[in-house]
Amino acid sequence: MPRVAYVNGRYQPFAEACVHVEDRGFQFADGVYEVVAVDGGVLMDEDGHLERLGRSLRELQIPWPMPVRALRQVMREVARRNRITEGTIYVQVTRGVAPRDFKYPKGILPTLVITSRRANLNPTERVEKGVSVITIPDIRWQRRDIKSVALLPQCMGKQRAAEAGAYEAWMVDETGHVTEGTSSNAWIVTADGTLVTRHANTNILRGITRMAVVGLAQQHGIGFQERPFTVAEAYAAREAFMTAATNYVMPITRIDGAPVGDGRPGPIAISLRHAYRASRTGGSR
Ligand code: PMP
Repeated sequence: MPRVAYVNGRYQPFAEACVHVEDRGFQFADGVYEVVAVDGGVLMDEDGHLERLGRSLRELQIPWPMPVRALRQVMREVARRNRITEGTIYVQVTRGVAPRDFKYPKGILPTLVITSRRANLNPTERVEKGVSVITIPDIRWQRRDIKSVALLPQCMGKQRAAEAGAYEAWMVDETGHVTEGTSSNAWIVTADGTLVTRHANTNILRGITRMAVVGLAQQHGIGFQERPFTVAEAYAAREAFMTAATNYVMPITRIDGAPVGDGRPGPIAISLRHAYRASRTGGSR
């Protein structure tokens, strides 16, 4: 089945889809993006992702490339044309094409690219074993709340994790507190059973899955604190996990090579994972 990409108003064969060499996304990483999971045909937390896209665009003074209602339709159409019922939809908006000049150009149209691909959102073995993370310094800029396509520090971090045989890298600020993963939010359950994740200001991305899990934890009566935690606290935690659109709630069983708790996925992580999927798709697996 040939893959299809949507680029600026046209559905194109994937291999031929391209943007201009002077696109500001290419020249300056002057663009933003969203990744939405599709599970059983459901666009998971679609509203939250579109709201955050609107916020990222507003912060950078990039106009919507099309009305949100139309965007929802195109996202579905790209998934449909690629026959994706379990996978991801990727939406990228850049400021557009203009002669290379740092200042925002006037009167240009934003570039819109939408692609979709298959992914296993429910990897039983990985969830049952849990994943490992390493910790690395956070070397990013100070507006991490904007979901910008400038992802080089995250690429470097994920590469380091892969070279260390780990699944994710947790980035650590200059005070020794974990900010977040390269593409996920970071959580621990302390020895006394309190769920902890950092508050979402400009230091981290306000994860849509994070927001959903905060709501579920409250519904389930799980003690919850929104505050930064140190690497030492993470080493001593009873449980650790990450949240992200494509990982849902993923248990972490090793940090920097040492087991978390008894080295097995924790019960809170597992129950929040099931609750998240069930609350969004109406079913559980
Ligand atoms: N933090 C960062 C840096 C990310 O890239 C992501 C993935 N988009 C997340 C957190 C998780 O956010 P979400 O739950 O919206 O996917």
